[in-house]
Amino acid sequence: MAHPQPRPNVLAIPAYVAGRPPTVRPGMTAYKLSSNENPYPPLPGVVEAATRAVAVMNRYPDMGSTALYDALAARLEVPVTDLAVATGSVALIYQLVNAFCAPGDEVVYAWRSFEAYPIAVTAAGAESVKVPVTADGRHDLEAMLAAITDRTRIVMVCTPNNPTGPAVTQAELDAFLARVPEHVVAVVDEAYLEFVRMDDAVDGLATYRRHPNVVLFRTFSKAYGLAGFRVGYAVAQEHVASALRAVSLPFGVSAVAQAAAIASLEAEGELLARVDDLVAERDRVVAGLRETGWDVSEPQGNFVWFALGDRTAEFAAAADEAGITVRPFAGEGARVSIGETEGNDRLLEVARAFSA
Ligand SMILES: *Cc1c(COP(=O)(O)O)cnc(C)c1O
Repeated sequence: MAHPQPRPNVLAIPAYVAGRPPTVRPGMTAYKLSSNENPYPPLPGVVEAATRAVAVMNRYPDMGSTALYDALAARLEVPVTDLAVATGSVALIYQLVNAFCAPGDEVVYAWRSFEAYPIAVTAAGAESVKVPVTADGRHDLEAMLAAITDRTRIVMVCTPNNPTGPAVTQAELDAFLARVPEHVVAVVDEAYLEFVRMDDAVDGLATYRRHPNVVLFRTFSKAYGLAGFRVGYAVAQEHVASALRAVSLPFGVSAVAQAAAIASLEAEGELLARVDDLVAERDRVVAGLRETGWDVSEPQGNFVWFALGDRTAEFAAAADEAGITVRPFAGEGARVSIGETEGNDRLLEVARAFSA
């Protein structure tokens, strides 16, 4: 062979399909509802904090992200040693697999779920064990337990589940964790935590305090509107958190991102009020869909799942025609983010016309 060859698993890494930007149509505002982003523009105070950091871009960022760790520790009431900050929680998935899996070790997760999971697992040379979600898009926790073997190092629970929407309850999570072997890391991916409105919602922090093998993944990308800056964090007891920190990319989180994340924590009240508005929009969309006969599974994030099967591409094209871009998963369904009110209205129109 004439050229250098990467490890065989590198060639097997599935491609990440990013949400498409909207098709530009003259005279029509287009809405990007394909990446679960926050539709609100950044708060002035957050922009100012980031701008101050821009002015010193000739310097490396604080490698230890000290001020951000301190702010998170104070906000969450956890020791700094139980935190790991990274360039988005996507990076934390990579770090966790690299820190805990040798080649051939297994990672159990629900499917369909977040598409970064198979990418990170394959990149590390580990094996994915995908457990199908139920017909209404819920984790089949019983089947996930049954899928754990002596090769399993990590089991992941994505709640609310991206892209299908439902969240697990605390009772379900407790019963599950009670049966996960102690040496297996149990991830609770809480990327959409702030959007959850249900009885018996998961209390991640209380759960991590009770379980030395639990790690929470959280992000500033969704509720806090910092997707473009790449900041996420993990909360876990020190033996897991320190392993995540050990394999992190030095200077990964930029100074601008650190400043914006800290300013966002300071502006949390305002940001969470926006989340309330998005939740109200989500509930309005779900009610509208149910009125027109759509049977959507209970969405607890900032997105709605349409289980369309082989009509998925047709639906995505109809949405595109109406100036909204959705995220189709070929042959399975379409995920549509809750966005600006007009974008949400257009979604309702498309869905109404499509079911008729
Ligand atoms: C968006 C998302 C993340 C967070 O991604 P970032 O890298 O923090 O932007 C993590 N998990 C799930 C399930 C997500 O949907």
